[in-house]
Amino acid sequence: MKYKKFLKSLSPKDAIVYYNYDLAPHTSFKIGGKAKYFVVVKNEKTLKNLLSKCKKFFILGGGTNTLLSFNYYSGTVIKLGGNFSRLYVGKNKLTAMAGANLFSLCKLAKDSSLSGLEFLYGIPGTVGGAIFGNAGAFEEEILSRVTRVKVFKDGNFFWTKNFSFSHRNSSFKKDGSIILGAQFSLSPGDKKEIEEKMKDLLARRKQTQPYGAFCAGSIFKRLEVGDQTIFPAKIIDNLGLKGVKIGGAKVSEKHAGFILNFEKASATDVLRLIKKIKKIVYKTNNLTLEEEIIIFGGKRFDFNRRFPHSHTLQPREGNNFRKCDFGKEKGP
Ligand SMILES: Cc1cc2nc3c(=O)[nH]c(=O)nc-3n(C[C@H](O)[C@H](O)[C@H](O)COP(=O)(O)OP(=O)(O)OC[C@H]3O[C@@H](n4cnc5c(N)ncnc54)[C@H](O)[C@@H]3O)c2cc1C
Repeated sequence: MKYKKFLKSLSPKDAIVYYNYDLAPHTSFKIGGKAKYFVVVKNEKTLKNLLSKCKKFFILGGGTNTLLSFNYYSGTVIKLGGNFSRLYVGKNKLTAMAGANLFSLCKLAKDSSLSGLEFLYGIPGTVGGAIFGNAGAFEEEILSRVTRVKVFKDGNFFWTKNFSFSHRNSSFKKDGSIILGAQFSLSPGDKKEIEEKMKDLLARRKQTQPYGAFCAGSIFKRLEVGDQTIFPAKIIDNLGLKGVKIGGAKVSEKHAGFILNFEKASATDVLRLIKKIKKIVYKTNNLTLEEEIIIFGGKRFDFNRRFPHSHTLQPREGNNFRKCDFGKEKGP
């Protein structure tokens, strides 16, 4: 069956299909082109079926850590909805499917008097995206609370305990798994205390970050040099780069690690600003900053060219990106 025909045959209880779909509203940057196909998949059977038929795809979670740098993506953007948004409570544990958002996860933990996820409260996005990038805050990280992860890999669904992680990194980034859910090991706690901690951490976040602005969190990863941890935001701030603009993109005045889409920025504006910052930091501090955000669609302006992450069905090829034909980026 032809792919388009297959998509048309899908029942709304299994998947919702959109054509030539504008992705910008699905990202926290509010930047993005169109996808030829955008499919919200609701169950495993349909996901497997879809993946066996589509040639190239990209999984989008909450879009809060992603810069979509294309005008047109001729593949399928897949979002996990329906059954993939469910949350389950057990004794001292919670199971969250990948499409669930982190706010609901934290609230359920609190309502179930389970402690251990308070630090996540306020990080936007989905469980899948957070596991993929090992999201964290206040010196804690999500994968240290995870006992097992459900994945779709090599055509099979299975739970695995076999994963590794480091700062904003997980083995899932490399092995091509699609994350479907995770089980969290938590400890019994006092509901009031959990709530207080969550509120406190959210307040601290709002005080130090441009919360609610169009952005994607910290642009750059922290660096480990010898036994020293270097925070890019501090260096960028010291260099006086807060408020620096290119087109509609600017370095946040509140947190130098964030870039804002303050006035109809294009992906090119953001990429050019990233390049500028990296260049200045390299020249002045001899340090090479590495992006924490996922850039999907190409980094035309990056002098340190790497290929963005995308998924293809296995066998994974070295460079999935070349398979995608992206349109021309909007100029500044
Ligand atoms: C205001 C603000 C504050 C933030 N603060 C923090 C913070 O304190 N700490 C922190 O770590 N991050 C922070 N972030 C960044 C972001 O919220 C997190 O990284 C979040 O975990 C990303 O989740 P997402 O679902 O939005 O991922 P997306 O941006 O949708 O996706 C990110 C990557 O994950 C992949 N992916 C998503 N779902 C799956 C899946 N199911 N299977 C396989 N791959 C998948 C995508 O393909 C993409 O490559 C912040 C962002 C904003 C806007």
